[in-house]
Amino acid sequence: MIKIDNKHLKFSLLLGLLGLLINLYPLPLFGNVQLVLGNFVFIIVAILLGPWYALITAIISSIGLYISWSSPHVFILFCLEAIWLGFARRRDIYSLYADIGYWLAIGMPLFLLYISMFSTLPESHLSFTTLKQGINGLFCAAIGSLAVTVFAELWYMKGKVKDRKRRSFNSQLTYSFALVLTISLLGSALIFNHQVITKQQESLQRNLHDSVTHLGQATEVFLETHKQAISNASQWLSLSSHEVYDWQSKLIRLHNSYPGFKTMLVTDADARIIAASPLSQLGADKVANKLLSVKDRHYFQEAFFNQRVYTSPAFLGRGFGTDPIVAISAPIYQHNKLEQATGIIEGSLDLSTFAQVDNSNKVYQDQSMVIVDETDRVIYASAQLGLEPLSQFKWVESGKDYKTNLSMINLHDTENPNPEFIYDHYPLNNDWTLYVVKPFSPLLELLQSQYLTTFAVLILSLIITIVVTRVLSVRLTQPLTVIANKFAENGQTKVTDFQINEESPMEFLTLYQSIRKSKQELISYQLELEEKVAIRTFELEKANSKLQTLVEKDELTSLYNRRYAQSKFRSTQDFCQRSDEVLALAILDIDNFKSINDTYGHQGGDECLRVLAKEMKKYFKRDTDVVARYGGEEFLLILPFCNVLMIEEHLNDFKNKIKCLRIDNPHDQRQISMTVSIGALINNANFSTQLDEWFKQADLNLYQAKHQGRNKVVISMPLPLKLKDAGHPD
Ligand code: GH3
Ligand code: MG
Ligand code: MG
Repeated sequence: MIKIDNKHLKFSLLLGLLGLLINLYPLPLFGNVQLVLGNFVFIIVAILLGPWYALITAIISSIGLYISWSSPHVFILFCLEAIWLGFARRRDIYSLYADIGYWLAIGMPLFLLYISMFSTLPESHLSFTTLKQGINGLFCAAIGSLAVTVFAELWYMKGKVKDRKRRSFNSQLTYSFALVLTISLLGSALIFNHQVITKQQESLQRNLHDSVTHLGQATEVFLETHKQAISNASQWLSLSSHEVYDWQSKLIRLHNSYPGFKTMLVTDADARIIAASPLSQLGADKVANKLLSVKDRHYFQEAFFNQRVYTSPAFLGRGFGTDPIVAISAPIYQHNKLEQATGIIEGSLDLSTFAQVDNSNKVYQDQSMVIVDETDRVIYASAQLGLEPLSQFKWVESGKDYKTNLSMINLHDTENPNPEFIYDHYPLNNDWTLYVVKPFSPLLELLQSQYLTTFAVLILSLIITIVVTRVLSVRLTQPLTVIANKFAENGQTKVTDFQINEESPMEFLTLYQSIRKSKQELISYQLELEEKVAIRTFELEKANSKLQTLVEKDELTSLYNRRYAQSKFRSTQDFCQRSDEVLALAILDIDNFKSINDTYGHQGGDECLRVLAKEMKKYFKRDTDVVARYGGEEFLLILPFCNVLMIEEHLNDFKNKIKCLRIDNPHDQRQISMTVSIGALINNANFSTQLDEWFKQADLNLYQAKHQGRNKVVISMPLPLKLKDAGHPD
């Protein structure tokens, strides 16, 4: 289920409306090609909010285009584009690149298919229109993307689509350049081309107007000259002696002066031909015998009855060949009596002589000329138009949806709304009309090639931009990466080893130098710190061992204290028990120590304690032996792995040795002697794990020793004991 965020929806709708308004007025480029500008709105939404909101915006903004083009293809084309871009955005693909992909893979093929099926555009125009569609799409994508990039703060909103991966500087730089380039190049090309095209159209219109005026006037002069010739000839014949036999030769001379006439003839009042040129073409005897009549011809009736110089519409000749002709006729009077005509003179204009007029315009080779009479029949048409003289001149105005000031017509395919020709016309003063036409397609091709060149330049520029920005960004980012890597390495790297390359910008050198300085400071600080830590550690270890000594040892005698003896007993007993060994525990107490203290002072007593301790250490010197001051003048011996037989002797030896000792009283140089009593327990280690149990037994024995008069060793050895050979010999 897609969750709809109200704010996002409002934003999409608002931009959609903006797009709709802009799309109502697409920018006319030329002909029926227009530039769509409003579609950038759904590009923005696709980038910020993803495909589905972009679809909403695209639907709304396409309504604007649908209104101005009334073609439903805009919905399919632009909605697909919006969705495509939205999904591309989610995959971190830049919109301009994604849009190029869309138009190449989907947009342009789809559009081409659509217009080739439903549009009346000429085939030569299809590929261009399709390409224009794609380029237009890119233009909008570039505007939308740039708007998002430049006004990043403006689009702040919660929950917008974010990049999944951080983009490299290189790709950011390349993309920004590509955007700016696309917009500036296309924008300037569109404006520039538009101006050129407008100018071109204006000059084309002027040319056509000049041509049609020039040709119209030339045609009028041609007609007027021949009309004048007939009029003059009629007056001249009216004034002549009326020697009719002479007229034949006069007519031939006149005809020679005006080769624009195909044939000439003179009739009598009954419309019978009495002179003709060329005579052979009509038959000399028929003329001589007045066998041919033109009574039914308009040119006779108009000149004879209405008594005026008359120019006929075009019609098919008779008698004098069967060519299409225009007849100019005038009345002849007898002795210049104007009341009653006695005949007419007529000249048939050779319609092909208009080619001379046409040829005078050959500077503009692509222009053609058509002269039609008042009944719209073709009197003359340039050969390339393929219009037969006397045929009905059919034409329709075309290109009605083309945004141009040019007048356009179709002469051949009157059903097609695409223009065949641009034209101008000139009404001649005898009610004829002269048209000058110029094919539209070369103009279209010129414009197309102009746009194609622009697009080619754009693509080339994009390639150059990508290469240049690559080089530039490498120049910027490489030293940064190198600096970062160098300084991230451990302290072993000598920072002075590395210099950044010379093409790098100044700022990087400064950065490098300041980081190097910081790193050097950091390293020296680190060394200082390490030294301090080493000193502190040493001091701490010293203090620690001192503390350990204080905890475990007795200060006066430097023997282990009761705490140590207790903890050591546990491990010693355990060890002996596992090896099924014997353990001896003895308590040694100085006899009458109170009186020693009393006699020799406290210092004397202390000295006795120190000497006794020293002796004990000397006498019980095995590594496994534990000698401890248990409290006051009481000492504890823990002797593992002892020889049962020898231990008693050993303790007695020690007792005797103490008795023989003479200790110097440090206070007054008197000599002190003392005795000790020893109570001991020798037992298998598994006797008890508790020191108290052992102690109790040994203490009982000590009590015995005291009781028996002191200076005694009392040992208890519960049987059976394993007797070992090894013992306490030392
Ligand atoms: P006994 O033969 O029954 O052991 O008699 P004793 O006098 O040795 O025993 P008692 O328990 O009556 O006296 C012990 C004396 O040891 C009392 C105390 O002042 C003295 N003493 C205990 N610790 C020290 C010490 O660290 N230095 C000195 N100088 N005297 C101590
Ligand atoms: Mg005591
Ligand atoms: Mg004592």
